[in-house]
Amino acid sequence: YFVEPEQMTENNVVITGEDVKHISKVMRLEPGSHIECLNNQGRRTHCRIQSVDKETVEADILEDIKSSPELPVYAAVAQALIKGDNLDLVVQKGTELGARSFLLFAAGRSVVKWDSSKVEKKLQRLRKIAKEAAEQSGRQYIPDVSYYASTRDMIEAASAYEACLYLDEETAKSGEHQAAADIFSSRPPSILALIGPEGGISREEAQALDQNDCRPVSLGPRILRSESASLYFLSALSYHYEI
Ligand code: SAM
Repeated sequence: YFVEPEQMTENNVVITGEDVKHISKVMRLEPGSHIECLNNQGRRTHCRIQSVDKETVEADILEDIKSSPELPVYAAVAQALIKGDNLDLVVQKGTELGARSFLLFAAGRSVVKWDSSKVEKKLQRLRKIAKEAAEQSGRQYIPDVSYYASTRDMIEAASAYEACLYLDEETAKSGEHQAAADIFSSRPPSILALIGPEGGISREEAQALDQNDCRPVSLGPRILRSESASLYFLSALSYHYEI
């Protein structure tokens, strides 16, 4: 269970919110049961439940867990807006595969648009999906989920990453590209990969990405759906670095 950093001291953890119900009603855990507690700042611990009441669960920290389930690179998925369920899929499965952040953006060809008054609500929903997937898959961090209203804003945010790639089926077809594995071999500490919407990345966007040191990469000769491309990228990264 993830808690706010201030809810974890050297020796204790206080769990509040929806996780209390999960512990008591869904998992039916009682004092004495063992759980894993995390502060989303890198600390993972084995805990023993001390008390369970309606509002809070208190637990003693037994030991810190030293091993890490995280990818050896900070992987950010810059996912163009795609139809609702598929975006949920990218966030949920991408979290299981080790993404550290999801930067959602309204690409030129995104059919789906987010009304600015609904952005915060949509992000909150996706953050909940990320948290549950992080807990389910034993992640050390809950990935961040953020939103950019244009490809230009997205490109600006990409400059914070050591390596920027864009997955592009057009360059994949032309053969003038590098395969993702070639780029991974330099092993940068952080990689951002941009994935286009259902209609792909426009040539104007590709040009702007090129001008901002973002490199086109291929995922092979078959054209994948946007959500498949994101998950393929993370799988390839995990295979390349971890297996
Ligand atoms: N029309 C399909 C759809 O409705 O989902 C295909 C979408 S494809 C154009 C969406 C995005 O997936 C592309 O912009 C690109 O980022 C990525 N992609 C798909 N296949 C790819 C490939 N073989 N190599 C690199 N990127 C690919």
